[in-house]
Amino acid sequence: MSSIPAAQPAKPDIRSQTYDELKVVMAELGQPGYRLDQLLNWLYRHHTSSWDKMVNLSASLRASLGERFALYPLAEVRRQGSSDVTQKFLWKLSDGAMVESVLIPANPSLYGEKSDRHTLCISTQVGCAYGCRFCASGLDGWKRNLRVEEIVGQVSAIEAQGLLSPAKDEAGNPIKSDRVVNNIVVMGMGEPMANYDNLMKALRIINAPWGLNIGARKITVSTSGLVPQIKKFADEPEQFRLAISLHGATDEVRDRIMPVNKKYPVNLLTDACEYYQNRKARMITLEYILIAGVNDDIAEVRPLARMAKRLNAKVNLIPYNQVDGLTWNRPSEERQLAFAEGLRSAGTLVTLRLEKGHDIAAACGQLRLKTEKEMADSPLTTA
Ligand code: SAH
Ligand code: SF4
Repeated sequence: MSSIPAAQPAKPDIRSQTYDELKVVMAELGQPGYRLDQLLNWLYRHHTSSWDKMVNLSASLRASLGERFALYPLAEVRRQGSSDVTQKFLWKLSDGAMVESVLIPANPSLYGEKSDRHTLCISTQVGCAYGCRFCASGLDGWKRNLRVEEIVGQVSAIEAQGLLSPAKDEAGNPIKSDRVVNNIVVMGMGEPMANYDNLMKALRIINAPWGLNIGARKITVSTSGLVPQIKKFADEPEQFRLAISLHGATDEVRDRIMPVNKKYPVNLLTDACEYYQNRKARMITLEYILIAGVNDDIAEVRPLARMAKRLNAKVNLIPYNQVDGLTWNRPSEERQLAFAEGLRSAGTLVTLRLEKGHDIAAACGQLRLKTEKEMADSPLTTA
C-alpha cells in the first residue's frame, strides 16, 4: 500500500478516541471493563505506539483493535537547544508534513500556577492561514489541520522520553517528578481556534484523568482573535485558559500587522474577551510582541492599559524574535523597559522576559522553515 493521505487516513488513530467511544468498541469486542483501563494505560501512561508492546492484551484483541484503528507515528526529525533551557522538537507526521513543539523548563508562573515546572508549547496546524506579517508560521501559507492524535501525540512523544532535564528547586536540587509536562500552551504553529473541533477533542484527552491527566487550568489556548470561537470556548465546561495575541490595542496598529483584525476589529475582540472573562472568571493573558517602530511607542501604552483594566487581564510583553526573510526588529532593551514601566505605572499587571531562551512563544515555526529550506537545498543531509 502506498502512503496514507493525511486529510483522510484509512483508519482513525486510537488516540483520537474518547473514553466513551472506546468503551463502545470494547463492548462490541466482548471485552470486560478492565481491559479498557489496560489499553488506556498503554496509550497514556506508557505512551506506547505499537500494538505488540501491549503484552497484557491478548493477541486476538490486539489484532481486532488493529483492524479498526491505527497508531500513526510522530517521528522526531530534529531537536534544537540544550535541556536546561528551551528545547525545540521538529516532528514528521505520517504524510511527511512537519510541525514543531517547544519544551520550556522551570518557568515560574508564566502562564499557569506558581509551581510550573515544564511547559510544552504545541502546534495545531501545518502552516497558518492567518498571515500575520511578523510570523514565520504563516509564511508558506496553510497546509492542513492537525488531527486529534497529532495534537495529543506531541505531548505523548515528549512524555515517552522520560524526564529530559529535571527541574530544580530554589536550592538547585532536582525536583522529583514522574512526568515531564506540567503545563501546555497551544502557541505553536497554526491558529488553534481555526481547528476548533480537533483542538477541543485533543484538549479533552490531554486533560482527562484516563488520558494525559493535565489540569484544565494548566492548559492555555492562544488565538490571534477569532471572535466566534472565543465565545464558543468560553461556553465550554472546562476551565481552559485563554491568551490573546494582541500586539496592538488599536485597529490602527493591528490592521498593519494582523489581517484577522479586518474581520474582527479590536472592539469585537474586546467584547469576546469580556464574555470569556464573565463566564470563566479566569485571568486572560494579552500577548504583546514588541516590534520596533510598529507598536512600541509609549503612546500605545494607554489603550493597552485601558483594555487590560476592562478585561482584568495581564500583559505579557515579548521582545520580537527576528525571522529569516522578514525585516521587523525588536526595540532596544531600554525601550522595552520603558514600555513595561509605562504599563506598570498605569496599574497593569505586566511581565517582560529579557532572558534568552525563555521567550516561549518566540519563533515557533522557524525550525520547520529552516529545515524545509535545508532539505530543499541538500535533501540527503537532513531527515
Ligand atoms: N495562532 C495563534 C497561536 C500560535 S502563535 C496566535 O497567534 O495566538 C504563538 C505566538 O507567537 C503568538 O502570540 C505570535 O504572535 C507569536 N509570535 C509569532 N512570531 C513571533 C516572533 N517572530 N517573535 C515573537 N513572537 C512571535
Ligand atoms: Fe498564524 Fe498565530 Fe502566526 Fe498569526 S501569529 S500567522 S495567527 S500562527
